[in-house]
Amino acid sequence: MSFTRISEIGEFALIDRLATLIAPTESQLSTLKKGIGDDCAVIELPNGKLQVVSTDLLIEQIHFDLLTTPLEHLGAKAISVNVSDICAMNAKPLYATVSIGLSNNISVEMIEQIYEGAARVAKQYGIAIVGGDTSASITGLVISVTIVGEVDASKITYRSGAKAGDLICVTGDVGRSFAGLKVLMRERQTMLDTFAENPDMDKSTYTADLSEYQKAIEKHLLPKARIDAVKFFHEVGLVPTSMIDVSDGVGSELKHLCRNSQVGALIEESKLPILSETREISDEFEDDGTTYALFGGEDYELLFTISPNDFDKLSSFKDVHIIGKVLDASSGVKMRDLFGTDIDLQSASGFQHFTEEEDLFEDDDDAHDHDGHDHSAHNHSAHNHNEHNHNGHDDEDEDIWGERKN
Ligand SMILES: [Mg+2]
Repeated sequence: MSFTRISEIGEFALIDRLATLIAPTESQLSTLKKGIGDDCAVIELPNGKLQVVSTDLLIEQIHFDLLTTPLEHLGAKAISVNVSDICAMNAKPLYATVSIGLSNNISVEMIEQIYEGAARVAKQYGIAIVGGDTSASITGLVISVTIVGEVDASKITYRSGAKAGDLICVTGDVGRSFAGLKVLMRERQTMLDTFAENPDMDKSTYTADLSEYQKAIEKHLLPKARIDAVKFFHEVGLVPTSMIDVSDGVGSELKHLCRNSQVGALIEESKLPILSETREISDEFEDDGTTYALFGGEDYELLFTISPNDFDKLSSFKDVHIIGKVLDASSGVKMRDLFGTDIDLQSASGFQHFTEEEDLFEDDDDAHDHDGHDHSAHNHSAHNHNEHNHNGHDDEDEDIWGERKN
């Protein structure tokens, strides 16, 4: 048997190969509407509704750094990123299973913290955690969540429905999560340097003031799935023509939408919702905040397209920005920058900043998303438990599906 390294073909080619192997099983489920290739798999239910299913894996040292990530946040994020994939189908999440691989440096109390975080946000999203599996792990902590949701067949939204002339919209703000990650990575290094220089130091006494970066750090550690946007769509009878959640950055997700819909797009840099907090952090790192927005990822906002006829329906949803227009495929996927130059987003080389951050740019020009798989392999990192006072739990006991908040 030959030995091909995964790095030789890349993750997307690997998924293609695996998809080929499982393809013969798909015909055994006559109700399967969509297998690999969207945010969720889609299955027809006898009641005329559609079931949507997604799964995500979080692995220590790939997706998070245990030394510096609050465990409660980790549990919460594991649920939120899965709910986000359900939202990307314009569906309502119903229930999830949480499985965990445990290394022997994890205590019972630590595991409880992870599940407390998961349970807290599950309550907010109005979903039940119905089971899972636990196992020993020799390579660090592993968390896998599988989630199931439901949607009326008339409301299902795939990545593939965008049409030339549609408006391109994004909820919330983008780039902030990556800005938070940058701060956390720097803080982690400072912490490790301090420990190295002071080997006798009591590590629990280490403190850092990250208060000025609070908004960005919070977005990174505790992203919220935009279930409020989906609820709004249902209330006003708006069905986006295509939708995806922003796990890899607006630029990357836009390319997915365009490839799946066989269209082109032009977005405007000036319309990208990037907060001043994000710009201040990117300036501090001598980076470009626009790059964070396009390719940083993990914002878990919704990127979607609507027919221009639905513009009025969208107008009462405040936390959304129209950033561009869908064009014919021949127009390519481009961003008009602040100077009026159209930059090709298909080839990263069109924008010199794109090549400076190796962490930002994985080869996803030819992406083939596996349902529920998160392709980002950012090293999530540093976080100081002592100083980071999370204060975003003001609505923690509300089922946000039932309580739309704008
Ligand atoms: Mg997704």
